[in-house]
Amino acid sequence: MTTDQPETTLAVEEKSTASKTKTDTTGKAKPPQDPNKPESGIVYRGLDDTFPSSLPRWHSFASPKTRPESPHDWLRVTSIERGPNRDSWDIVLFDKQLRDCIAKVIARYNGHTGNNIWQGSQVTLSSPFKPFIFNHAELETEAQSASLDPTTRGRLQCLLQVVDEIHDPVQWRIPEPMDDPWSFRIQYSLLWTLFKPGSLVVAAWNAAQDLQVFQVHDTSYGSKKTALHPSDKRYSMNELVITAWMWDWNGEEIVRTMYDFKISEYSGDKPPAELRCYPIAFYEREGHRGLEAIRGASVYQDRRANFLQYAPGHRHLGLHRYSGDFYGGIPAFQLDREKAAMTAMGYRTSLWPTVPPRVVKIDEDIILDTVNYMRKGGGSRVLNTFEPVSSTNFCHCQLCLDIETKRWRDDTQAKVTRPFNYNDLLLPPRLFGFALNWKEWGQFFLNDIERTEPAEKGKFEGEIKGLVLPDEVSKNEQRHIFTMVSNHWHVMAKPRGQRIADMIGGKGESLILLFHGHSGTGKTLYAESLAKSSSRPLFKVGTSDIGLNAPQAERTLKNIFELAEAWKAVLLIDEADVLLDARGSANESLVTKNALVSVLLREVEYFKGVLIMTTNRVVAFDPAILSRIHHAVNFGEPNSDQEYKIWKLWIDRLDEQGLCDDSHDLHKWAKETKKASRRYILSGREIRNVFIMAQMLAERRNSNLKIKREHLTAAYDYKKSFRIDTENLRTQANQLLATQKK
Ligand SMILES: [Zn+2]
Repeated sequence: MTTDQPETTLAVEEKSTASKTKTDTTGKAKPPQDPNKPESGIVYRGLDDTFPSSLPRWHSFASPKTRPESPHDWLRVTSIERGPNRDSWDIVLFDKQLRDCIAKVIARYNGHTGNNIWQGSQVTLSSPFKPFIFNHAELETEAQSASLDPTTRGRLQCLLQVVDEIHDPVQWRIPEPMDDPWSFRIQYSLLWTLFKPGSLVVAAWNAAQDLQVFQVHDTSYGSKKTALHPSDKRYSMNELVITAWMWDWNGEEIVRTMYDFKISEYSGDKPPAELRCYPIAFYEREGHRGLEAIRGASVYQDRRANFLQYAPGHRHLGLHRYSGDFYGGIPAFQLDREKAAMTAMGYRTSLWPTVPPRVVKIDEDIILDTVNYMRKGGGSRVLNTFEPVSSTNFCHCQLCLDIETKRWRDDTQAKVTRPFNYNDLLLPPRLFGFALNWKEWGQFFLNDIERTEPAEKGKFEGEIKGLVLPDEVSKNEQRHIFTMVSNHWHVMAKPRGQRIADMIGGKGESLILLFHGHSGTGKTLYAESLAKSSSRPLFKVGTSDIGLNAPQAERTLKNIFELAEAWKAVLLIDEADVLLDARGSANESLVTKNALVSVLLREVEYFKGVLIMTTNRVVAFDPAILSRIHHAVNFGEPNSDQEYKIWKLWIDRLDEQGLCDDSHDLHKWAKETKKASRRYILSGREIRNVFIMAQMLAERRNSNLKIKREHLTAAYDYKKSFRIDTENLRTQANQLLATQKK
């Protein structure tokens, strides 16, 4: 489709140039170099005797005729001037047998370029004769073939000589695998010869310079204007654009994604491995070369196995643990529909600026979900910052997709195990999804995804991270809550006839829990434990994610509920009172509040998952919402017994981790503290902060971290005095308000 386009159009271009300029009718035959080689039937047309010369020639002598001058002519070689600083060569092949022979040898290449000039009565090609150079080895072999008739064989050999002489063969010959990759150097102008369509190349794609294998589709020389001087030609930069593809996962099937790799013009010559994209033959590692070498590189470890495990899971929930670099930057929910629809094809249009991914180290739960990454995140199938090239020019020729490759794709799609195939190396190094805590869409590196083990069935893992539920919540109730949460999806998956369902289809299929009570009492922790124990992702959102502007909140809430449903997640809306305050606060009009309440009501009505809302102001809740809650847990105010339990839990954990020498003494300290300060009871969150502070205080250079009584006392005293101060301030403020009202 692309590669040989200029060559086919040139045939037309030449005719018009020829008719305008005075032609050299003498038809002075002049071989480019060797006058002794066989040349019967070859007509040479040169510019003048001084060729080749670097002097500018202002007159053109080109005269490609459409027919041979004599019946014996089988090849015409013409030197053509194309502009003051550039001339080139045309060759015209008249011999049908030779043409057919060549067409057969380069059939795959022709199929890829979509070039059908080989079917006409003659073939005109312009230098640099891409089809000959890219298929040089194959044509050389054919030229020695005994099965060829002697005339065609002789002419093919002769033709290859002519091509060699027009181009200095030492310069452009595609290097043999035996060549030393570091002694081979290449000039910018010949760079294209390294990138034969269908061949494999490697390119670094991230900051760590990890390499990925791609298959070349096409190359082209281009120039780009620099941003500083957009209109000045002297500042434009020339570059070679290599368009190459890798396999990718679009959420439903294995597809190809194509990228452009650009190499700016350079002077002199360079070894290919110094370029940002180069043929795989030049890749070297630990004494190995090429395919075998890159196959053993650590980035490629278990590539296919990892891809099969994490990508094509139709029914898999996509919940995984991830520890490594996250290429994020796509905000979670605030996306407009148009943008999402336009990226549904897998590539972005240039209508809006793209945000470069922000690379952060994360260690948290993630959801792998390419479909929603594109649909709801508006993401395209980027590779780090490489934007995919429009997928419309993918071709299905034998060069790009041969039978073996198609079989490989089908097997991979079906998760069939099979021996190594180079296509394994074309599998992507990253997948798309959502970081649940970081709350951004982005790219996850395959090697850093960890499989999450499902929780032990029917077991509640609440006793983690110091979760102490209020005494009012009996063991029985705790068990019931856990059973409801973990059974919800199972029950709702049953046919409507076999369960209690709303009269109106699709309505009332959610489980809604409300956790209310003082802040820092472990409401969020409890929700986390419930999700974890039922092997569900916890999708936690707050007012800052949703926003208080009704139209925007409606769109965002819709997105959030849809995602929670798609991921079968436990949806946690933290501090839901801000959203649902029935009376409205000073800043928000009642109308806005009502709008938000009705938006949430509508979404909740059709939600098919588990929703947990937390609040420390249950009185603020709208009655319409309250009536839809299935079960509420009152976390109340922390009391001293509860507080003591939390202290004990934390000290036990320190002991386990070896972070204290004398846990006995710390337990004693906790008991004393309980007696001494009944008035100031700390919440779970505050206690955690005391321990974090104590840890900082205990840290000494060159010694292991050991928390002692003195550290704990100091941290606790700071916390307590801060509490006393704020309480005093609040009392003062309230008194002031009271006097003002009077
Ligand atoms: Zn192709």
